[in-house]
Amino acid sequence: MVTQTEREDGTWFACDGCGMLFDAREDAKQHETDCDGEEPSYIQ
Ligand SMILES: [Zn+2]
Repeated sequence: MVTQTEREDGTWFACDGCGMLFDAREDAKQHETDCDGEEPSYIQ
C-alpha cells in the first residue's frame, strides 16, 4: 500500500511496508512491488 503524504515541501508517497518516501507515485508503486515489508535489504 502506498500512502500519499502532504508536506510543506510537496506531496510524497510513502511505502506502508517500510516507510520509505518517494516523490512520485509510480516510484513508490514500483518499490512496493519489490518491498517485503521489512527494512530495505538493498541499502546496506
Ligand atoms: Zn517498502
